[in-house]
Amino acid sequence: MGEITRLTAAELASRLSSGEVSSVEAVQAHLDQIERAEPLVNSFITVTADDALATARQIDERRARGEELHPLAGVPVAVKDLIVTKGTRTTAGSKMLQEWVPPYDATVTAKVREAGLPILGKTNMDEFAMGSTTEHSAFGRTYNPWHTGRVPGGSSGGSAAAVAAWEAPLAIGTDTGGSIRQPAALTGTVGVKPTYGSVSRYGVIAMASSLDQVGPMTRTVADAAALHELLAGHDAQDSTSLPQAVPGFRAAAANRDVKGLKVGVLAQSYGAGVSAGVRGSFQAALDLLAEAGAEIVELQLPALDYALDAYYLIMPSEVSSNLARFDGMRYGLRAEPQDGPVTAERVMAETRRQGFGWEAKRRIILGTYALSAGYYDAYYGSAQKVRTLVKRDFARAFEQVDVLASPTAPTTAFGFGQDAEDPMTMYLNDVFTIPANLAGLPGLSLPSGIAGDGLPVGFQLLAPELADERLYSAGGALEALLEERRGGRFADQLTEIGMAGSAADSTGGI
Ligand code: GLN
Repeated sequence: MGEITRLTAAELASRLSSGEVSSVEAVQAHLDQIERAEPLVNSFITVTADDALATARQIDERRARGEELHPLAGVPVAVKDLIVTKGTRTTAGSKMLQEWVPPYDATVTAKVREAGLPILGKTNMDEFAMGSTTEHSAFGRTYNPWHTGRVPGGSSGGSAAAVAAWEAPLAIGTDTGGSIRQPAALTGTVGVKPTYGSVSRYGVIAMASSLDQVGPMTRTVADAAALHELLAGHDAQDSTSLPQAVPGFRAAAANRDVKGLKVGVLAQSYGAGVSAGVRGSFQAALDLLAEAGAEIVELQLPALDYALDAYYLIMPSEVSSNLARFDGMRYGLRAEPQDGPVTAERVMAETRRQGFGWEAKRRIILGTYALSAGYYDAYYGSAQKVRTLVKRDFARAFEQVDVLASPTAPTTAFGFGQDAEDPMTMYLNDVFTIPANLAGLPGLSLPSGIAGDGLPVGFQLLAPELADERLYSAGGALEALLEERRGGRFADQLTEIGMAGSAADSTGGI
């Protein structure tokens, strides 16, 4: 064993189709790894071993009958617990939905099932996707597989950790302000936030509806492309779903040529908040691109300096409205007051008091305040204007360059409890990821190297709306250059869970 879990999804898929490995064997290998790794990382809220094995058995039978199957059929996947799964509880990381078993599948869940990917389970996350650390879960923290004293990022920290800890070759996450890309960066994995509206959100529990997107989390760019292709496409059940067809992401990911590629570097990449280790790794990756013939130019996008502020008004406003449905009257938790009359209003108040954690409460209060009659224009209105300026800055930049680059996060994985002391530190970790959500743009994070502290560094690429394939052509090429320099795949540097600090080259490197 061991070997199966070390394969990329693409490699596993080819062994499945050649008959070298069965899907049941593949699923069992990952279930074994989950059993070994979970005490250290806690990536999963729910493991659905029986369901996964049943799907695997079906796929093996269909393959034996010679049926035509999806290229990823039989390759197991882990799904963020914000995405509803018929018959399997879906908690959103919250006590509010601790016992909720959805009566339907999200469109992305249905796609995964139709394609025959066994679902290993539902991954841990910050409550209702609010956070950058996966500490804000009613189901305990997730630990970074590279260093279990560090956060895995968030909110899709469970999906990222599962992929990094070899528990799953593929995972699905959601990204409202960076929740796919930032945990990918902190765990040395690949994460993609697609263009807004290009992947269906039907059945994805809403955090901030004008920002939310579903996307792939994997160990390689090619695997992200393959999963992205499966997830994307128009869905009549999602009113924000775009009509455009899905271009061939897998073909784009096979690109190895960056000659003439124009890469704009966000000037903010050189800002004071970016740690030396992150900066060094970022610069080394840019140098590789330049040596291979890419044209690197630094660009000023001044409105991006205000993106974080705008996000922290728009996001909580939408959160406060989306979370209003959790009131003890419809589904999920219902709690009655201990004493006094049991009125509808008092049941709602008690349910929300017990059901939400403090980060959810903080954001609901912020949001209702920002939306209140006297402050609407001053806060929500101004934030929307900043959003327009951010979009314009990006539009101008993409007149000059093909893709934009920055570090994904300003630091490597940090310790637990930091945000309890100072929530701004946590909020600042998303400074590079949030602008893409405000503008609806696609973004990809891939590991560029290891910083002096032995922890992974993420490199972010951004592309214009609906040009997601550029992320794969540039990202696939950069990944190949980095692999060549390093002499192997990034993920293979994680040989033992939690041991990065001692095992890694403390001088840093690619
Ligand atoms: N970390 C950001 C937040 O706390 C982003 C969350 C997300 O993308 N879901 O809001």
